[in-house]
Amino acid sequence: MAAASGDGLSVRLLRVRVVMVPVQKKSKCAKRKRRSHHSLTPANLVTCPKCVNLRRSHTACSVCGLVNHRLMLDLSGEKS
Ligand SMILES: [Zn+2]
Repeated sequence: MAAASGDGLSVRLLRVRVVMVPVQKKSKCAKRKRRSHHSLTPANLVTCPKCVNLRRSHTACSVCGLVNHRLMLDLSGEKS
């Protein structure tokens, strides 16, 4: 086998990467239709009833630790 012989040419040939190339250019319409689903929606922010800080809904407040009226996280031990 040529690769086992150790000559530099055959070793170099084995390292050639095969690059896939599109057969035809995508039209503007196809490109825009594909990208029409790429838009991001803004995060749903609600106001914390305790400290009036904006937070994501259904998550704990990062300032006071309030989750809902029944559950409150202790954030005092978080900073060390
Ligand atoms: Zn809060």
